[in-house]
Amino acid sequence: MHIGIAGAGLLGRLLAFELSRAGHSVEVFDPAPGPQAPVFGPGTAPYAAGWTAAGMLSPTAELEAADEHVFALGLRSLDLWPAIVADLGVPVELHRRGSLLLAHRGDEGAAHRVVDLLQHKAPAGHAPQRLDAAALRELEPDVHGVAHAWLLPHEGQIHTVQAMEALAHAATAAGARWHWGVAASQLQAGEIHTPQGVSRFDCVFDVRGTGARPDPAGVAPNDGFTPQVRGVRGEIIWLHAPGVALQRPVRLLHPRHRVYLVPREGGHIVVGASEIESEDRSPISLRSTVELLAAAHSIIPELAEARIVHTETNLRPALPDNLPRVDQSPGLVRINGLFRHGWLIAPALVEQTLKDLA
Ligand SMILES: Cc1cc2nc3c(=O)[nH]c(=O)nc-3n(C[C@H](O)[C@H](O)[C@H](O)COP(=O)(O)OP(=O)(O)OC[C@H]3O[C@@H](n4cnc5c(N)ncnc54)[C@H](O)[C@@H]3O)c2cc1C
Repeated sequence: MHIGIAGAGLLGRLLAFELSRAGHSVEVFDPAPGPQAPVFGPGTAPYAAGWTAAGMLSPTAELEAADEHVFALGLRSLDLWPAIVADLGVPVELHRRGSLLLAHRGDEGAAHRVVDLLQHKAPAGHAPQRLDAAALRELEPDVHGVAHAWLLPHEGQIHTVQAMEALAHAATAAGARWHWGVAASQLQAGEIHTPQGVSRFDCVFDVRGTGARPDPAGVAPNDGFTPQVRGVRGEIIWLHAPGVALQRPVRLLHPRHRVYLVPREGGHIVVGASEIESEDRSPISLRSTVELLAAAHSIIPELAEARIVHTETNLRPALPDNLPRVDQSPGLVRINGLFRHGWLIAPALVEQTLKDLA
């Protein structure tokens, strides 16, 4: 089949890779200037949320905000990621060492509410496992000062920047063609409209994330789906802390906000993330910086000498119920609403969608 894809974010790259290697002729359109990581900074044009994500693959922890369907997609994706990464041809950091939930003394109320909820929603074998101080020290010797810890044994993480670049590279090697710097202004069954004209395909995928809203000057699709996409602001901070030996993602169960730390190779730790109902992409606020870094430092005091090497803000594409949605009709497939779970669920969502397409 001749396939057109609007959007070269996480979903667009994964679809381009899977469809190209399955033998389809694939063309991808995106306003980004190229496949490489954006040059981050104030004034940078909007770019894929996939670049900004911390890359936690956390089906159980996400049950706090998601449903059993997202959990099932997450578990399946955790099984799919190793084979995908192995076929990309370049190294991508991917681990499945579990993750930790942590809480300070005095925060038991908030912590137990979350842990009880996860215990209630997670299937047997996936519920949080209580750790005593010795077990925590064994797993994460640099984590100090927390009174409570739980292990989520099946969770993982992926290096999102490496994976975004590798997916585009592998899709190109499999034959995908890219139209960089070209935004899709309108999509219809079998058609992608751009300022250059109309391109025709057997099937079109709309995976534009927050860009899937209709152009105010264009014709609004009256399908009750894309206009409802909203962006949810998220801010993250990259620390360089080569002396800190964090092995797995950790989340602090704080009464007022969630904070996580995700280690990356090269001595980096991604600290995130705010979740604000706003489409403001401007740089991280002082409040978020203070809250995120104070929480990070309270878990790992050695971070005091870490260097702040990068901050970033982006929008998670969300639908009103904060759940993912696939709308499949002849010649047009729209996937959106991956919200804060995109990396967790994309492989299974793509697998399911392509099965339904066949
Ligand atoms: C701060 C933050 C932290 C996150 N952490 C995690 C995490 O730890 N784990 C996890 O699983 N998920 C996480 N996510 C969520 C994840 O990044 C998203 O769910 C995922 O990127 C959504 O994928 P997508 O392909 O739908 O959208 P995107 O990745 O946003 O890609 C959309 C693409 O469409 C393009 N586009 C826009 N308009 C047009 C147009 N008119 N024509 C053509 N192309 C267009 C854009 O340029 C972009 O390339 C996080 C997100 C943020 C912001």
